[in-house]
Amino acid sequence: MTLLSTSTDQLTTLGAGLRRALDGPFADKRAAARAAFPSDDLLRDPNLSIDDAREWVLNRLIEISEAGVLATGVPQSSEDPGDIADTVVAFETLAHGDLSVTIKSGVQLGLFGGAVTNLGTKWHHDAFLADISSLKLLGCYGMTELGHGSDVFSLETTITFIPETDEFEVHSETPGATKAYIGNAAEHGTMAVVFGQLLVRGRNYGVHAILVPIRDDDHNVLPGVTLGDQGHKGGLLGVDNGTMRFHRVRVPRRMLLDRYGGVTEAGEYASSIESPTKRFFTMLSTLVRGRICVSAGAGIATRRGLSIATRYALKRRQFVAPGHSEGVLLADYLIHQRRLLPLIARSYALGFAQNEVTSSLVHVMESGRASEEEKRQLQTRADGIKALTTRFANDAVQEAREACGGAGYLSENQLTGIRADVDVFATFEGDNTVLLQQVAKALLGDYAKIWGELDTAGMVQATARVFGDTVMERTSASTLVERLTATVKRQPEATTLV
Ligand SMILES: Cc1cc2nc3c(=O)[nH]c(=O)nc-3n(C[C@H](O)[C@H](O)[C@H](O)COP(=O)(O)OP(=O)(O)OC[C@H]3O[C@@H](n4cnc5c(N)ncnc54)[C@H](O)[C@@H]3O)c2cc1C
Repeated sequence: MTLLSTSTDQLTTLGAGLRRALDGPFADKRAAARAAFPSDDLLRDPNLSIDDAREWVLNRLIEISEAGVLATGVPQSSEDPGDIADTVVAFETLAHGDLSVTIKSGVQLGLFGGAVTNLGTKWHHDAFLADISSLKLLGCYGMTELGHGSDVFSLETTITFIPETDEFEVHSETPGATKAYIGNAAEHGTMAVVFGQLLVRGRNYGVHAILVPIRDDDHNVLPGVTLGDQGHKGGLLGVDNGTMRFHRVRVPRRMLLDRYGGVTEAGEYASSIESPTKRFFTMLSTLVRGRICVSAGAGIATRRGLSIATRYALKRRQFVAPGHSEGVLLADYLIHQRRLLPLIARSYALGFAQNEVTSSLVHVMESGRASEEEKRQLQTRADGIKALTTRFANDAVQEAREACGGAGYLSENQLTGIRADVDVFATFEGDNTVLLQQVAKALLGDYAKIWGELDTAGMVQATARVFGDTVMERTSASTLVERLTATVKRQPEATTLV
């Protein structure tokens, strides 16, 4: 039995209205993407071996790319501004199918391509962007190291300027400096964006990123580069994650992605941002789209899981009620409604929030008139939505799996695959706990600022307002308890969904 609907778009009036609400300001882009990506063709056979899964995923990406829809919105050169909302929509639409395809596209276009776009300058754009978006140049995003994951400020890899030859030398001094979990490193990547400490004439200018070729045209690993295959994972089996180590690998000076800091022809370090810490966070802030995409993809994967469970609940019957010839639909059990409906409601709420954050991303990255406050707020919101949506995805998909009983546990019904794949969304693009700490820090900073700016009269008024809000909350809380008590007193199974 398969739980996946093969029917095409035949929405009820209510369904069409809900879709319109959820699509929000991106309705046209999402409609175009849905039409271009047939999600029924994107499901991977769970029986494939790792090697076959990787090959299948790469071939799917190539097919979608050749259909002209994979790199929608991705800039192709220094002249092409791209369309950031299109890139988010293209990524999330892929999440209707196999999540390995989604993540591999994210590694290639969002991380590798995104770093070249946002940290590079004209030469990098003209030299590489067209080949990146056509998949001719497959690449990696080498930030995480064995020794440093969440703490990327302390990366150990070094990028040392060699004035005599006008080159940089990329080096992993210790085992802890080995790049780890890197998508495309194990098999398919031929170039990597490598993050490391930039050393110029004995001085450390902090973390910068540089392009390093890792395999030649015949796919042989280049001298000085050691690549490892991290093999079987808890999910995303179609993505070839691996390790990278560098032994004094030389690359020309222009390979440094130097939008925020680089070495001049005279061999001197130059940057428009004085403070290394500020420079580092400015660089990272330009990569915020990746986090927003992961959140968007998790949102779609969650809705897929909930949709499978809901459709099953509308078909599956268990226990015949007295006086009836047929069994009761799962969807007619109050307990089943209470398991699924709040999750569906929350997935809508997070979808609306996701639209807000994506709109802020478009404003900050494309309008050219975003304030520092708006940029800072975008980072905090991206951290928050990513942590909440991916945590929710893990919880909701597990509930959906259980709501389908044994059928939910069969691989052909997708839920166990989605659950396995979505698991790591809580870790990559920023570990959720660390992200929530950053959100808390930003909120406390805002709070301290607001209170710090108040005079005595303002302080009294603000205290009164907080007190009033607390009383309001308590009052509405008691109303809620009354409503719940009344609901419990109703006849069991008095509410029907269908
Ligand atoms: C499948 C997969 C694909 C990936 N792809 C890439 C890629 O292509 N490129 C890339 O660069 N990286 C990639 N990563 C790496 C990923 O970004 C890191 O795993 C992530 O940043 C977390 O780092 P870590 O694994 O070292 O965990 P750690 O940072 O060691 O965290 C471990 C635990 O410690 C907790 N912790 C850490 N710091 C604190 C703190 N200050 N306070 C409280 N708790 C804390 C965390 O919450 C977490 O639970 C990938 C990872 C995976 C699993």
